[in-house]
Amino acid sequence: MPEDDAAHDICLRRSPSDCNSCTIKESVECRFQQRSLLRFAAIFLCCAIPAFTGVILAGFGWFLVGWIAYIAFFLQVWENRILCSHCPYYAEEGRSLRCHANYGLLKIWKYNPGPMSRWEKLQFIIGIIIFVTYPLPFMALGGQYAFFLLSSLGILVFFAVLYMKMCIRCVNFSCPLNRVPKEVVDTFLRQNPVMKRAWEDAGYKLDNE
Ligand code: SF4
Ligand code: SF4
Repeated sequence: MPEDDAAHDICLRRSPSDCNSCTIKESVECRFQQRSLLRFAAIFLCCAIPAFTGVILAGFGWFLVGWIAYIAFFLQVWENRILCSHCPYYAEEGRSLRCHANYGLLKIWKYNPGPMSRWEKLQFIIGIIIFVTYPLPFMALGGQYAFFLLSSLGILVFFAVLYMKMCIRCVNFSCPLNRVPKEVVDTFLRQNPVMKRAWEDAGYKLDNE
């Protein structure tokens, strides 16, 4: 899997030399980085391994089929529409995503350069809660309290690392978890006229304009 050497099509300053002089290059992750994908996979496994083990030991292994089906639907269809279709990574050429979280998933919707709506943010939060909590009741019902605690701890680790290490640099600025400072967002939008126009049409105001 090669490191991404081309900036997103949506950024006006495309060549590596442009990026070298960009004032926000350290503040946002504009290019796919393999180490970020590995980090995301590692924190996901912190939740998934104890959850799978606990549900099987609790005697509800067949219910994992429902969880896997939900994850596939959520990531490829639902989240793909409400979250990812607004992301600059979705604007790249090619039919599949190349990003730190959903690498390889198909881009089945039309790219939407505007920010997520409130309704989309609410759906995303509901979808994520179902995603991470689905296995917990089965472990509780089957008396697998140690795995229940381990899975809960895994969920905390997942969100803590995501929030502290990844959301602080993610280019999907309208995601409810995103923490990129406004001045960085404004600079990015000034270099991305398609997004800037769509965000302003949605009511966003850039500072000093
Ligand atoms: S925002 Fe800056 S670092 Fe990112 S692709 Fe554009 S020019 Fe490069
Ligand atoms: S970085 Fe996040 S929002 Fe953007 S495409 Fe990847 S998973 Fe979706």
